[in-house]
Amino acid sequence: AHLDRIAAVDGAVHAFLHVAGERALADAAEVDRRRAAGEPLGELAGVPIAVKDVLVTQGMPSTAGSRILEGWVPPYDATPVRKVREAGLIPLGKTNMDEFAMGSSTEHSAYGPTFNPWDLERIPGGSGGGSAAAVAAFEAPLALGSDTGGSIRQPAHVTGTVGVKPTYGAVSRYGSIALASSLDQIGPVTRTVLDAALLQDVIAGHDPHDSTSIPDAWPSMAEAVRNADVRGLRIGVVKELDSEGFQAGVRQRFHEALDLLERHGAEIVEVSAPNFEHSIAAYYLILPAEASSNLAKFDSVRFGLRVTPEGGGTVEQVMAATREAGFGPEVKRRIILGTYALSAGYYDAYYGSAQKVRTLVQRDFDAAFAKVDVLATPTAPTTAFKLGEKLDDPLAMYLNDVATIPANLAGVPGISVPAGLAPEDGLPVGIQFLAPAREDARLYNVGGALE
Ligand code: GLN
Repeated sequence: AHLDRIAAVDGAVHAFLHVAGERALADAAEVDRRRAAGEPLGELAGVPIAVKDVLVTQGMPSTAGSRILEGWVPPYDATPVRKVREAGLIPLGKTNMDEFAMGSSTEHSAYGPTFNPWDLERIPGGSGGGSAAAVAAFEAPLALGSDTGGSIRQPAHVTGTVGVKPTYGAVSRYGSIALASSLDQIGPVTRTVLDAALLQDVIAGHDPHDSTSIPDAWPSMAEAVRNADVRGLRIGVVKELDSEGFQAGVRQRFHEALDLLERHGAEIVEVSAPNFEHSIAAYYLILPAEASSNLAKFDSVRFGLRVTPEGGGTVEQVMAATREAGFGPEVKRRIILGTYALSAGYYDAYYGSAQKVRTLVQRDFDAAFAKVDVLATPTAPTTAFKLGEKLDDPLAMYLNDVATIPANLAGVPGISVPAGLAPEDGLPVGIQFLAPAREDARLYNVGGALE
């Protein structure tokens, strides 16, 4: 049924870069066989899932939205993909994304944009617009995403879906094509909070292949949703992110959701996080710095594309020609920014300062969580904008991440839950909750209560 749905609507939505087709049907038959053999399978066994193209998949193309990886077929599954397969979920295919997960609109994909199913003239968010659009358009009930600065939560906000960035280290990054290793985290994109919880229960857990993976066992997130109860829960509204810069309808739905939680027994208090306003500046130095190092492996020798200049060339010339043809403009911009920020003489002024700001943001979280159990913010400043609107203005695109980036800088978990439609344009709005590191269950409790 989902393959049929993809065939019917993906021509217009373009959520998928690759559809598994026959292989998905064979996988489904295999799950039936495992079930018939009495193998204990989890609650999600047999459920199809879309996979963001940033995760490598054995025998299935994996491009991270880039030309430079066109035609590359990985020999292994990323750990989250392996885990969903073991639990009996059925990968439906790979979803579109901004190239190497750089962007907030999926317009930076080398394979053309994805369109928001709510309004095909608008962006589905980014970088994981394909996963969110697939779920919103009923092409897949569940999807996997990656969130380095909001790429799960902001697409969820603009498509009326649920998106979760787990605690840094909760889900293995093994087999996730790295953008910024100290910020990247894999997580669920779904239509309900319970679905997200069930999926997080499948993908979380220690992995010896990822040295930053948390070794401790996790409580059940699904239990947190099923027993949702916000009585006595202290919810802090971040003053700096409840301001004039946010669209009126986004703020209206945000406050209505808070009122609802208050009526269910939560206590709403205002908190201040004065350093959050510097998050974007710090992030757009730290991310390019780490990305410029991570992307150095695309050298024309090991993976994907190789462009040889006419008449041949030295190794260096082949590398340069390959990168010139294989990387898009946003990727080149960030590589240049990152190598500059890391270069001798500028390192302390840029990268060093950004790391200090990162510590200040972490301290803001510590101070806030000394007073409240979770924080609440609108997930993003506006509803879905039109394709092309911010494409030629990188700064405007970056500013869209103001509410999502602090969580990545601090490694804390965040969820975006649908909060209705903005009255002025009828487009979806999300409310974001943030919790201390390792307290992901608090997000599922409060999200579950809203659902
Ligand atoms: N918009 C952010 C960026 O462009 C989000 C990236 C992400 O989470 N992958 O860096």
